[in-house]
Amino acid sequence: MRHELLAKVLPRASREAHGREAPPREAAAGRDRSLVTPLAVDARGVSKVFGVGSVAVQALRGVDLEVKGGELVMLVGPSGSGKTTLLSILGCVLGATSGEVSLFGTRITGLGEAELPTLRQALIGFVFQGHNLIASLSAVDNVRLVLETRGYGRREAAREARELIGRVGLAAQADRYPETLSGGQRQRVAIARALAGQPPLVLADEPTAALDAVAGLAVTELLIELCRERGSTVVVVTHDNRIFHLADRIVHIEDGRIVPEGPRSQGSPS
Ligand code: ADP
Ligand code: MG
Repeated sequence: MRHELLAKVLPRASREAHGREAPPREAAAGRDRSLVTPLAVDARGVSKVFGVGSVAVQALRGVDLEVKGGELVMLVGPSGSGKTTLLSILGCVLGATSGEVSLFGTRITGLGEAELPTLRQALIGFVFQGHNLIASLSAVDNVRLVLETRGYGRREAAREARELIGRVGLAAQADRYPETLSGGQRQRVAIARALAGQPPLVLADEPTAALDAVAGLAVTELLIELCRERGSTVVVVTHDNRIFHLADRIVHIEDGRIVPEGPRSQGSPS
C-alpha cells in the first residue's frame, strides 16, 4: 500500500507504481510498455562542474542516459569518472550545471531546491557506499522511520518494517543496534531502508564497497532480487563482474562521459 506523497509530486510516476500490470521482467524486456510509459530516467547532455575558475573540476561532460521502467542498469567506470556525481543528480541530491533530467516523465532539472527533498522521498531509494544507518535506532526502527516519513501510519510502518527486515534475512537481529551488526548485516538494513515504501527508482552507489567479496556478492544479489520482485527501476554502480550477468544492461562511464555501446577500445587511459 502506498501513500499519497507520490501522487502529489508526480502523478504519472504514482500511477505507474500503483497500477503496474505487467511484471517487471516483461517490462524490462521491452514489451511495448515504453510506448505508453515515460522513461524512468531520461538524462540529456548532463554536465556538472564543481568549483569555479582555476579549481573547477568538470565531473560530467554531457551525459545522455535512458533507463526504462523496470530496467536494471549497472554503471561501471574507473574511480573519478563521475559515477557518484551522476547518481547524485539522478537521486535529486545534487543539481546539474547544465542539461536536462526527467524522472518518470517529470523534469527535475530546473525545480527549486525546496522541491527536491519531497521528490527524493517520493521517488528514490538510495543505498550508499557506507550504510548511513542511524546509530541510535535499532535495525527495524531505521526502516520504520523511513516508512513514517513516506506517509505510512505508525502501526502499518511498524508491521511493514518488521516484514522488510525479515525479507533481508535479519528477523533475529531486528531489534539490535547497527554497531552490534556485521558490515553485511548493516548493509542489509540499508537495503531494507532504501526499499521501504517501494520507491520506483532505486540507486545504489557501490553498495558493497565496505564488504568482503563473499558478503558483498550476497548483499548485491539480495538487492537485485528484491528490486526485481517489486519491479523497481535500478541503477547500481559496481565493479563486481560476478554480478554483471544480472543486469539488463551495463553502461560504461569514463572521464565524465558515457562510453557508446559496442566494441570498446582497449586501454589508452586519459
Ligand atoms: P566516481 O564516483 O566515479 O569515483 P565522482 O563522481 O565521485 O567519481 O567524481 C568525479 C570527479 O568530480 C572527480 O574528479 C572528483 O574529484 C570530482 N568531485 C566529486 N565531488 C566533488 C566535490 N564535491 N567538489 C569538487 N570535486 C568533486
Ligand atoms: Mg563514487
